[in-house]
Amino acid sequence: MDIKSLKVKEIIARGYINPSKLPGYDYVINPYVGCPHSCMYCYAEFMKHFSNHDEPWGTFTDVKVRSYAVKPVPLQGASVFLSSVTDCYNPLEEKYHITRKLLEQLRYSGAKITILTKSALVLRDIDIFKTIQDLTVGFSMNTDNDAFRREIEPGAASVLERLHALKTLKENGIKTWVHVSPVFPVLTDWKALVEMIMPYADSLSFENLKLRAASLVRVLLYITQKYPDLKPLYHQIYNENDMTYWRTLRKEILAFCNKYKLAAAVYFKEKEEN
Ligand code: SF4
Repeated sequence: MDIKSLKVKEIIARGYINPSKLPGYDYVINPYVGCPHSCMYCYAEFMKHFSNHDEPWGTFTDVKVRSYAVKPVPLQGASVFLSSVTDCYNPLEEKYHITRKLLEQLRYSGAKITILTKSALVLRDIDIFKTIQDLTVGFSMNTDNDAFRREIEPGAASVLERLHALKTLKENGIKTWVHVSPVFPVLTDWKALVEMIMPYADSLSFENLKLRAASLVRVLLYITQKYPDLKPLYHQIYNENDMTYWRTLRKEILAFCNKYKLAAAVYFKEKEEN
């Protein structure tokens, strides 16, 4: 979405740090409500129901400019993730610096901090990253093909911008990670992507494309119009709940990563397990 057309509202948060339901993380911080990246498959769209917005998801973002006074959370040894339902380095961060200010407060907390973004703006904060003892900065990437990226993640950084940012972080001694997500059946050339990022990523994880509600309709329509040959496969996975494709792919990915001695985890949640 064009950032100039985005409906932006400054709000007061009920605290920035919330308990996390994500496996492996104690707390999560989302400095923004909403996200201008407008990913076709967005997983965070459910947040609309909790944010008193009638507008379509992707057309608004609330900025948590400050927070009500809340009881401090002891963070020594805790794992903290930024961000789960927004991108903490979305274009509004360039103006508001909310993520930066939070990291300035967190850096001596003793927390283990993990950042995941699709934005090269993250490079702005390398000076702070260098002062945090336990920090990993990751990029979500799911393709090496920028034409495909433009269609599914129109507001996010290009493939080359993310690659360059990943490389710069690595060169600055920051621990890096690439979350290969979401893996689109057939359309994600994950081998080409891994070969491209391999020199710069300290670890990898893989997550499959999961679709529900509006994102299911959007993505299946896109496949029907743009890749009609793939319609039967997507129908098999997303309408018939047949997970054979993911089971096979999980084995292929693990075998490939073992071959190249890459630290990798595969989080292919299968629908029947949800
Ligand atoms: S970056 Fe994340 S939160 Fe933002 S639109 Fe994309 S999937 Fe949704």
